[in-house]
Amino acid sequence: MIVQPLTSPPSAPNSKTITPSSDVKPWPGLIETYRPYLPVTEKTPVFTLLEGNTPLIPVPYISQQVGKGVKVFVKYDGLNPTGSFKDRGMTMAISKAKEEGAKAVICASTGNTSAAAAAYARRAGMRAFVIIPDGYVALGKLAQALLYGAEVIAVEGNFDDALTVVKNMAKDYPVTLVNSLNPYRLEGQKTAAFEVVDVLGNAPDWLCIPVGNAGNISAYWMGFCQYRSFGKSDKLPKMMGFQAAGAAPFIAGKPVPNPETLATAIRIGNPANWDKAWGAKDASQGEFNAVTDEEILEAYRILAAHEGIFCEPASAASVAGLLKVSDRVPANSTVVCVLTGNGLKDPDSAIKHSKNQVKSGIKPELSQVAKVMGF
Ligand SMILES: *Cc1c(COP(=O)(O)O)cnc(C)c1O
Repeated sequence: MIVQPLTSPPSAPNSKTITPSSDVKPWPGLIETYRPYLPVTEKTPVFTLLEGNTPLIPVPYISQQVGKGVKVFVKYDGLNPTGSFKDRGMTMAISKAKEEGAKAVICASTGNTSAAAAAYARRAGMRAFVIIPDGYVALGKLAQALLYGAEVIAVEGNFDDALTVVKNMAKDYPVTLVNSLNPYRLEGQKTAAFEVVDVLGNAPDWLCIPVGNAGNISAYWMGFCQYRSFGKSDKLPKMMGFQAAGAAPFIAGKPVPNPETLATAIRIGNPANWDKAWGAKDASQGEFNAVTDEEILEAYRILAAHEGIFCEPASAASVAGLLKVSDRVPANSTVVCVLTGNGLKDPDSAIKHSKNQVKSGIKPELSQVAKVMGF
């Protein structure tokens, strides 16, 4: 919007600026956009919040840190309607559940799955049950699930315990599982890879991604492979997955019984999509690596303070990982780091781990304010 000076009356709106132009099409959501690539038919009722189409943002400061002419972009999936990439999977999982006549869905969640499941299930007129690890869900995510109308059950255990409960629940009771074991979740999530290729005109050389339950890395790989088979790209990226050092079963080579990290979205010790993720890593000649909480926090602060991008701590694992193994990035390559969730999900972490603080106790007087400003 152009701000008009108060002295001149605003000019009449130019009709061209308010008539929808035929070449600017509103984004219809990811199912409509990628319908030929998705397992939907005319009979599938589509429940969408117009998710997807998130920006692929160049990050010049991080590119410079990596050096060697490497171009780094972030796929900022925290800009989805409920603030994480889980919306991509949930529009598919909920639409298919509704098509199959489900009245209720259930998920175990570190937070973002519950927010997305609740929003889409309620929109589709279904009950949403979410099982969370008590005390380990970021504030914003819990707030969302409650207000969207989910039935939230906090268990005294971790995510892996919660997932075991819901898997059995879905076997014995009339509720549809919408964790990433639900194949429609990965089908929806693979569209993020399509969007990356659509913007770059090809696949990147590396895809750096945080790994928790390992659904998203599997979904991206599926998307890149599928798009290449349709001639949309002529290469495939190396899949570079990063786990938090305290919750790194892929590095240990076995499940971790008591995963610990402040990146609660990836605080998972026994990933459900273990084999799929290893398949993606091996087929792409990629790597799994661990990043410490300190490295995650450093990337979290760099993204915000140097690039203007606020993601949640788990998301910053992708950038922390890239910076950690940047000696192995080929010169002049293109790297995409996935930022899985929005920073506003977890305000506590931002306040606790920012090195910045509010200057308080100042009188509302020009001289006082100028003084603390250093003038
Ligand atoms: C769910 C989630 C992850 C982990 O994704 P997986 O598919 O479980 O590997 C990472 N970051 C955020 C913000 C998430 O919500």
